[in-house]
Amino acid sequence: MRTPIVAGNWKMNKTVEEARSLVLEMSRNLRDIKGVEIVLCPPFPALLAVSAMLQGTDIGLGAQNLHWEEKGAFTGEVSPGMVAEFCQYVIIGHSERRAYFGETDEKVNRKVHAALSHGLTPIVCVGETENEYESGRTGEVVRRQISLGLANIDPAKAAGLVVAYEPVWAIGTGKASSGENANAVLADHIRPALAGLFGAETAQAIRIQYGGSVTAANADEFFSQPEIDGALVGGASLKLDEFTGIVKAAAKP
Ligand code: PEP
Repeated sequence: MRTPIVAGNWKMNKTVEEARSLVLEMSRNLRDIKGVEIVLCPPFPALLAVSAMLQGTDIGLGAQNLHWEEKGAFTGEVSPGMVAEFCQYVIIGHSERRAYFGETDEKVNRKVHAALSHGLTPIVCVGETENEYESGRTGEVVRRQISLGLANIDPAKAAGLVVAYEPVWAIGTGKASSGENANAVLADHIRPALAGLFGAETAQAIRIQYGGSVTAANADEFFSQPEIDGALVGGASLKLDEFTGIVKAAAKP
């Protein structure tokens, strides 16, 4: 049995003050919900404040990115050790980073190695663009992203990875995949690619989220699918009732 994991990716939203008031309400709503791992991923400047507010709760904290180097002349970057001071999780390879910031599969791979070596749980994002979807290349794309992005990971650490399948055409568009379509991508491509790298048993243990326009209203459709182990949530994670509804849907037995 894989414990579902729901993570909120706040992207570049919320000042420290705004983050404090959202987390105050969220931690009240979410702290007693069992059977689901909950992670909040605010922007870097809010991590310190949010980490203090989450002390004593089961709600985890994640960063949205990191650099693979330990320290040095990398202006504007944040090292894995700095992330690990506050966070237990880190999102890696989000499609926005791939599209706007030149994040290749090779860079994703370096970041995953760096995160694991600091005891962080990487949430590794994969997913095809609209063009790739329409030309029937979904399987080929996600298999490549998995095999290059997760290359040379110690199989003993691989079970702790989280993969987020996020079709790019579904992110922030209000046009979610169907649960059935997402489940098929996981069953036919992502889990087999993981099995190819780490063996079938480890692949079965790795949690795979769906992400892309998940809301409280459509969450059940995804969480009722056998391969989907939670969600990576963007827009709806900034709304108290929406995020609470998604977390509750994931916690259902
Ligand atoms: C995301 O950014 O990871 C995401 C899934 O966004 P949204 O839920 O807004 O589609």
